[in-house]
Amino acid sequence: DAYLSAIERANPALNAYVAVTDDKARGMAKISDAKLAKGEGGSLEGIPLGIKDLFGTEGIHTQACSHVLDGFKPRYESTVTANLWSDGAVMLGKLNMDEFAMGSSNETSYYGPVVNPWRRSRLDTVVMPTTHQGDGGFVSAGGTRTARTLDNAQLVPGGSSGGSASAVSAFLCAGATATDTGGSIRQPAAFTGTVGIKPTYGRCSRWGIVAFASSLDQAGPIARDVRDAAILLKSMASVDPKDTTSVDRPVPDYEAAIGKPVKGMKVGIPREYRVDGMPEEIEALWQKGIAWLRDAGAEIVDISLPHTKYALPAYYIVAPAEASSNLARYDGVRYGLRVPGKDIVDMYEKTRAAGFGREVKRRIMIGTYVLSAGYYDAYYLQAQKVRNLIKRDFETVFAAGVDVILTPATPSAAFGIADEDMAADPVKMYLNDIFTVTVNMAGLPGIAVPAGLDAKGLPLGLQLIGRPFDEETLFQTAHVIE
Ligand code: GLN
Repeated sequence: DAYLSAIERANPALNAYVAVTDDKARGMAKISDAKLAKGEGGSLEGIPLGIKDLFGTEGIHTQACSHVLDGFKPRYESTVTANLWSDGAVMLGKLNMDEFAMGSSNETSYYGPVVNPWRRSRLDTVVMPTTHQGDGGFVSAGGTRTARTLDNAQLVPGGSSGGSASAVSAFLCAGATATDTGGSIRQPAAFTGTVGIKPTYGRCSRWGIVAFASSLDQAGPIARDVRDAAILLKSMASVDPKDTTSVDRPVPDYEAAIGKPVKGMKVGIPREYRVDGMPEEIEALWQKGIAWLRDAGAEIVDISLPHTKYALPAYYIVAPAEASSNLARYDGVRYGLRVPGKDIVDMYEKTRAAGFGREVKRRIMIGTYVLSAGYYDAYYLQAQKVRNLIKRDFETVFAAGVDVILTPATPSAAFGIADEDMAADPVKMYLNDIFTVTVNMAGLPGIAVPAGLDAKGLPLGLQLIGRPFDEETLFQTAHVIE
């Protein structure tokens, strides 16, 4: 009830939820209450969660925040959400996101932008009144002082899991599900002062999650701290016969890794992540993170990941290529929206023209282009080769004994909604993903953890990248930083 009333109060301003499932939440909570009263219940019994709109939830709004899925209510439950419910979690509703998870600011949603609960503050010089009322009446007290004032400009929460990050940050749920194809868990976590982990590709089942780029997509949690993220991931992860890319390995007790000393651990600092034009405060944050881990007894080593600079361009070929294929299914026949036409082809065209937003259409165009005869070898195949080189860079570093890699999570703090530069040039928006996409290209686990505030009081995050299926080391190290 407390979460539902917080949603009622704050959601009109934040737009984090696109559907609130109050009846369902109360029903689930009642069952949890009964279990807890009997001393029973799962690891998440009664914990209220928000679910990104990309996860199929049986009989409940599931639209990937796209117009083309209008009215779609699946007859199935995604494996990840089913795992959460069987551990006792309670569903509060569906969370806003970039349309089909394409974006880095949560501005491409059919349901409108999500607002970051954080605001910039300004250090202002305030002229003090020449008189103020003292004990003995009005006395003169001229002069100036500095005060912090809030800037009311609204900021993006990052994307594509912007609703998840905003809701967790604003206490509109205890934790949330999210997905990460090229940074969509870690970048919004960094922008909102929350913790987000993208596990190793294959750790969570993708079954029942609306597909964007199938070879990159992974589910993971956004939570308020590292421990909550560890508990949530433990529940979400599983091998699943319905997703052949999910991996049959026992899911460790991630929480047990928290608090273990990092003494003697080898932390790699990749020189290629020092990108041109990176704000000084991001570099300073990185240095702070290095110092914390060194103070905790870790050994800091310089490493090189030489193909890093190709990750972003290669990602923006591979991801749209897979998206253009995955999105072919929205044809007005099987799901959601149908705009009538004079014949079936006309119906397809009208439905897709009306149903997809600008960014989604741009991705379909790019994807179709790079997959077309004559361009396939030059673009798509080339990008796949680059992807292999990126993966090998990481393998070399881990084989040399590095346990974990530390980088900034994003090249800046949260920016303003409707930023003119980014609206005018999609590539500027894509640059937000510069530190996060390599991890998806290599299939590795990555966590974003809040590490400080910028000069305007906005949260900044650091990223830790680990060996395949070594999420434990990420939780262990992130806990030293948080
Ligand atoms: N910003 C990236 C993109 O738009 C990331 C998306 C994601 O991780 N879902 O493709």
